[in-house]
Amino acid sequence: MSFTQLGNEFLSNFESFDDHEDVRRFEFEDGIVAFIAVHNTNLGPALGGCRMTTYDSEADAIHDVLRLSRGMTYKNAMAGLPLGGGKAVIVGNHRTQKTEELMQAMGAAVESFGGSYVTAEDSGTGEEDMVAMATETSYVTGLPPEMLTGSKYGELGGNPSPLTALGCYHGIKSAIEHRYNGEKELKDIHVSIQGVGAVGLALGKLLKQDGAKLTIADISEEGIEAAKAELGEVDVVGVDEIFGVDADIFAPCAMGGALNDNTIAQLKVDIIAGAANNQLWQSHHDQVLTEKGILYVPDYVINSGGVICVGYEYFRKSDYNPQYFNIERGSMVAHVESVGKIVADILAESEARGLPTGETSDALAEERFLKGAALGNDTDDDANEEDLANSAQSGGMTMVQ
Ligand code: NAD
Repeated sequence: MSFTQLGNEFLSNFESFDDHEDVRRFEFEDGIVAFIAVHNTNLGPALGGCRMTTYDSEADAIHDVLRLSRGMTYKNAMAGLPLGGGKAVIVGNHRTQKTEELMQAMGAAVESFGGSYVTAEDSGTGEEDMVAMATETSYVTGLPPEMLTGSKYGELGGNPSPLTALGCYHGIKSAIEHRYNGEKELKDIHVSIQGVGAVGLALGKLLKQDGAKLTIADISEEGIEAAKAELGEVDVVGVDEIFGVDADIFAPCAMGGALNDNTIAQLKVDIIAGAANNQLWQSHHDQVLTEKGILYVPDYVINSGGVICVGYEYFRKSDYNPQYFNIERGSMVAHVESVGKIVADILAESEARGLPTGETSDALAEERFLKGAALGNDTDDDANEEDLANSAQSGGMTMVQ
């Protein structure tokens, strides 16, 4: 494995370049290329997943890793985690080109950052790939719980999808409270879910338990059948019809870019709140939704349960715990549940500032990671350990005006 560090002069050709701290191109023995980008480590080591997918060109892969790593800085900041943002992409077909040796070499690539980048699962990679990487680096999360048991901190690790769904569920409850001023509860709500995969199905189950009516769509017939078996009574519509369902909430839980001019024009909902990453096709669609009177819950905030889960796993296996979190499963779950409060605070702040919700969230995240407003890196001697832990684990929203 060899690597080159990509310089700012070269990177500034990319519109997604945002003064990233460290971007490297790796080439493995079989000719496969990967990129790892560390966007910002003001709040701590850059945590973000490793995806494996094909790209039309290396330039497309660089654009993607720059964009995704930057997104992780915002996500981790708003989740109240003492972590920065980074991401890795392996250029290739994960079904046909992924080998154990490749993932081990990728582990060595992660290790070359000496801890400023910490990796995790993403699309095209899974638990067994994290295990392969772990032979070469300790800066890897998403490992099976059995590799982590035996510690005084209790069980962490494992599949983060149920935790992502749990955070979404609490975020949705906060959005309902905000939008309907306490006049509606989940039992009065109709949610349309696009994509009933790992997160969408788990979210559907939580919503259904509280009596919500569900309409679902998925490109996979198998996925629909599995969802019907798990969820019981649900309406099923085609993948193109899901946008026009007359519901209260639309929950995008499939791929990115679901909200564009065409799909937004079809929406008949009051709220958008779902797990998918990068839901807005372009950033101005935040404003388009606001003008249409639709309350958009910023995707990277409501779907942060998964990164909170792997973040705790990392805190547990490293000595890194600047916010003095109680690193055991119950506290991690409580932190995930606090996504509800974080969402509530952002929606209230957006109203107070008179700005779209996505723009408000971005501004709050920047206030944290650019101005050192993070709880964990606060060097104020008056801030005692307990206050830091309590504040961060209950949502960590100290609004910086
Ligand atoms: P998944 O692959 O398990 O599920 C995605 C589902 O969407 C699949 O069932 C797929 O068939 C379906 N789908 C794809 N295109 C579709 C379309 N056009 N219309 C309808 N259905 C479609 O993935 P997941 O882990 O559930 O993740 C879902 C989304 O949430 C992704 O955007 C992911 O990046 C994001 N996310 C996931 C996690 C996590 O912990 N898994 C964390 C944060 C964000």
